[in-house]
Amino acid sequence: MPTLTSYEPISRAAIGTVNITTAEQLPTLVNAAQQAQQYWAKLSLGMRQQQLNHAFQQLTPVQDQLAKLIGQEMGKDYRRATYEVGGTVQSASYFTDEISQALAPERLDRNTELQYRPLGIVAVIAPWNYPLAMANNLLMPALMAGNAVILKPSEETPLVAELFVNTLNKVLPKGLLQLAQGDGETGKALVASAIHMVAFTGSMATGKHIMANAAPALKRLVMELGGNDPMIVMASADIDAAVQFAVASSFENAGQMCTSTERVYVDARIATEFERKVVALARQYQVGAWDKPRVNIGPLVNPVQHQKVLDQLQDATQKGAQLLLGRDDYPLPFIQPTVVTGMTADMTLECDETFGPVVAISHFKHIDEAILRANDSPYGLGAVVFGGQGAAAVAEQLEAGMVGINQGVGGGGPWVGAKQSGFGFHGTAAGHRQFAQVRVVSK
Ligand code: NAD
Repeated sequence: MPTLTSYEPISRAAIGTVNITTAEQLPTLVNAAQQAQQYWAKLSLGMRQQQLNHAFQQLTPVQDQLAKLIGQEMGKDYRRATYEVGGTVQSASYFTDEISQALAPERLDRNTELQYRPLGIVAVIAPWNYPLAMANNLLMPALMAGNAVILKPSEETPLVAELFVNTLNKVLPKGLLQLAQGDGETGKALVASAIHMVAFTGSMATGKHIMANAAPALKRLVMELGGNDPMIVMASADIDAAVQFAVASSFENAGQMCTSTERVYVDARIATEFERKVVALARQYQVGAWDKPRVNIGPLVNPVQHQKVLDQLQDATQKGAQLLLGRDDYPLPFIQPTVVTGMTADMTLECDETFGPVVAISHFKHIDEAILRANDSPYGLGAVVFGGQGAAAVAEQLEAGMVGINQGVGGGGPWVGAKQSGFGFHGTAAGHRQFAQVRVVSK
């Protein structure tokens, strides 16, 4: 039986092993999912909600264990990991309630009703950076809609997924929620198997593979892909607020977040003060292991991701960018808080997604230049503008699924990508309905 080992990112010590789900085993999982789904689809929304709420209550005693596993497997500091787990567990009943309302039949007129029916089996393919929250955001609406789910977690975080799914399965019907463990090969085989929908959160490159592999059977897709989020700081901005946001957003989860700020365009008239304050704040961040107090930047998840960030930093410095804080040659496994200025459009740090704690700054003379640079990207997940009067007009011109004016993106809304950051989305009634087949009944 082939196995997958999970490694601790600092010591690279093995912390656990799971069996890989091979392509040959997938039909057995699909059969079990089919059986369970037939039963599950017949339950009312209220009964599915009740069973899922009961299942999520089983997680309460293992919350701390889950948070520690997140720290051990991908390096997230304990406070943030606890927040991720707590958010997932405590919001479960609110989440099922909201989905239940969204999926209730809708009467359009005297003769026509819209129904939200199950699609069948949904493959949920998840990343490692928020290993619990990202999986849950997709599997909860899928299950509530009457589907069975096969979850393929990231190969970086198999143990978090195992504890999560095994705990829920103490009470869920057998076969309704199953795990397929492994790397991209397992993911690829799962997409090709007899499932009906792929709900994916991950990189743009993987999203394109999945879309191609889902095409022959026109499998439904929800694609939550990567981002390269710009931030524009106008001369009229509250500089301290902009500095706070730029640093916090660039360093969140050691910079390993889809909507972290990746490129900061600051008005040249305030650039000196902005940069001085960014460096001062960035120096206060504490790098270290997930279980050490006061640490707010953990290690990068693995040596490959670490090298990618170094390559981007070195490409930038070779092309003329200046390091205001930090270096471009950090040893494994950490990237210290890094601030770079003098970014240009030909640098990979500017045009690719950067998964590390880096604030990358360029100056602009005219706002049109900043808007052009911000939009000059295949990505379109989030975009943020800080400024006084005129900020809303700038935000209006930004090409992104989520825009923040003097604050971050998202809020209470759905999680939406524009351009090649994805399509289909989750969250709110419109998002929940993407996990269902709409049926129009005329009577
Ligand atoms: P990734 O694309 O490398 O992997 C994601 C998942 O896809 C993993 O489970 C992986 O095993 C699987 N996979 C890989 N190749 C596959 C294939 N050919 N077919 C099917 N599955 C395959 O991404 P990652 O490194 O795990 O996560 C980081 C990326 O996720 C970043 O780009 C980040 O921006 C993005 N992300 C996006 C959001 C969002 O909501 N938009 C949220 C979190 C992360």
